[in-house]
Amino acid sequence: MSNFNQERVLSVHHWTDTLFSFTTTRDTSFRFRNGEFTMIGLKVNDKPLLRAYSVASANYEETLEFFSIKVPDGPLTSRLQHLKEGDPILVSRKATGTLVIDNLVSGRNLYLIGTGTGLAPFLSVIKDPETYERFEKVVLLHGCRRVKELAYGEMIQETLPKHDLLGEYVEKQLIYYPTVTRDPFRNRGRITDLITTGKLFDDIGLPALDAEFDRVMICGSPALLQDTRALLLDRDFTEGNQGESGQFVVEKAFAER
Ligand SMILES: Cc1cc2nc3c(=O)[nH]c(=O)nc-3n(C[C@H](O)[C@H](O)[C@H](O)COP(=O)(O)OP(=O)(O)OC[C@H]3O[C@@H](n4cnc5c(N)ncnc54)[C@H](O)[C@@H]3O)c2cc1C
Repeated sequence: MSNFNQERVLSVHHWTDTLFSFTTTRDTSFRFRNGEFTMIGLKVNDKPLLRAYSVASANYEETLEFFSIKVPDGPLTSRLQHLKEGDPILVSRKATGTLVIDNLVSGRNLYLIGTGTGLAPFLSVIKDPETYERFEKVVLLHGCRRVKELAYGEMIQETLPKHDLLGEYVEKQLIYYPTVTRDPFRNRGRITDLITTGKLFDDIGLPALDAEFDRVMICGSPALLQDTRALLLDRDFTEGNQGESGQFVVEKAFAER
């Protein structure tokens, strides 16, 4: 049996000339935990061309959603960005990853730190009722260069609070904090700087990060991961992984080639 299901594209949304999202059918046998990634791709010259992608939809939804970069000469995304409704797409039968709440020890507040497409795994984590049952406040930080790159802002601020199952949790517990580095905007600066200077905590009205109470998930560029990991280790946070839960977990949003 193949390791992949062949799904069909249901819809495509282009956010900018470098970012897009798409939804696909979902084989009923495909199971994943919110926050995990899987391999997806296209057949090119009869061979599968595959890349890791976080699943942006929640695990109880009937369709799958992915949030993608468009790398101009990228082997997969130079093709993927031309997807149309009805096109076939390969989706692995398996999912994996460290950004699942089960990899975190109990705590009070959960910080989800994503840059660029590193937002994707957290879109499923913030749609999981268990996230709100385990944590008092869920702070979603999304860092980008430009305001137009802050994809999903409307869904997070307008649609989710009206969601039948999640609306009440989201209203009371979710704090969305988008920030950009290169445009005028209400929140500006790199996430690590906002944490270090304390500006983030002044803005959201929560105490500064504390390993006793706070739990953190990070998904971004290798540089963001390195800087944030150093910042947390410096504050005595312990890192978790799939084998052992900790006070923070990290995942690359992409690998440098
Ligand atoms: C665990 C994991 C999860 C991932 N989840 C996603 C996801 O949800 N959405 C997504 O778009 N990509 C994701 N990626 C990256 C993805 O696997 C591919 O690298 C990306 O789709 C580009 O594929 P490509 O073949 O066009 O170019 P590649 O040859 O794979 O990449 C070329 C170069 O483009 C840059 N690049 C690649 N992906 C990104 C990105 N997402 N943001 C910024 N720069 C990038 C890097 O510098 C890379 O060296 C993930 C990667 C990993 C390891």
